[in-house]
Amino acid sequence: MYGEVISTERLSSHLVRVVLGGPGLDGYVHGEDADQYVNCFFLPDGAPYAVPFEDDEVRALPREQRPFPRRITVRSWDAGRGELTLDIAAHGDIGYAGRWASHARPGDRLQFRGPAGGYRPHADADSYLLVGDESALPAIAACAEAVPAGRPVVAVVEVEDADGEVALSSPGELEVRWVHRARQSGAPEDLLAEAVAALPRPVGVVSAFVHGEAEATRAVRRVLLREGIVEEARLSCSPYWRRGMDDEAWRAVKAAWTREVAAEPVG
Ligand SMILES: Cc1cc2nc3c(=O)[nH]c(=O)nc-3n(C[C@H](O)[C@H](O)[C@H](O)COP(=O)(O)OP(=O)(O)OC[C@H]3O[C@@H](n4cnc5c(N)ncnc54)[C@H](O)[C@@H]3O)c2cc1C
Repeated sequence: MYGEVISTERLSSHLVRVVLGGPGLDGYVHGEDADQYVNCFFLPDGAPYAVPFEDDEVRALPREQRPFPRRITVRSWDAGRGELTLDIAAHGDIGYAGRWASHARPGDRLQFRGPAGGYRPHADADSYLLVGDESALPAIAACAEAVPAGRPVVAVVEVEDADGEVALSSPGELEVRWVHRARQSGAPEDLLAEAVAALPRPVGVVSAFVHGEAEATRAVRRVLLREGIVEEARLSCSPYWRRGMDDEAWRAVKAAWTREVAAEPVG
């Protein structure tokens, strides 16, 4: 499946919105989860093939010529217009996904598989906690829109500075706490955990969504479980990327890292 870029928009200093459309999206089926993502294939410079390509066509190529897979959240799907919106973090002039988004122009094509997802704000929760960085901001925005009306929702989002903020909306009672990296001197992986630890303790059953940089999600998970703020069954926590590693290096060690985190004592 592939989409053709219809428009792009700089949402913030670090986030680019890309709207895809066209007949390559025929048959796209959006599921029920709020955090659905697609596995996008970014082509290296000089790739001897173009979108749409067949798996068999690229499988035999040298590694550096094959497409580079990156998971990106579906920010929204407009079934009537057949348009898929992705918000992609542009983190300097590095990364296949980030660079592609920064330079994308109408008519460019992006091939992907999916969608898949794993989190729906629990209907029986009394309040919701959504935590992450720019990579998780599209999913946080979609989750905030999916909570039941009137219930408290706190989003704690790490961005570079005020220019990295985007508007979020929700049928719930939404409070957004922005954490600015540029103003902090502590370890980067601790910023979100410190902000979460400083929140007033939520009352009742909490449903939490914590995604973004790996070590930052681990630190937030520790606070939430150690303090008994969230039960593990209502905590969706996963590492979207890892500081100092590209996605290839990260995927090679991610399963072992995830097992190690799951085995951490939380009491
Ligand atoms: C289920 C899921 C959903 C995701 N949804 C989104 C989404 O909607 N939007 C989005 O932007 N990302 C999303 N991500 C994260 C994204 O897949 C990774 O950040 C990916 O590494 C980006 O690829 P890249 O080619 O730009 O950089 P890579 O080639 O993977 O990495 C190049 C360098 O950039 C660093 N890097 C990677 N990501 C970031 C970042 N966000 N900020 C700062 N440095 C970074 C790496 O550590 C490395 O040093 C999602 C990940 C998962 C698993």
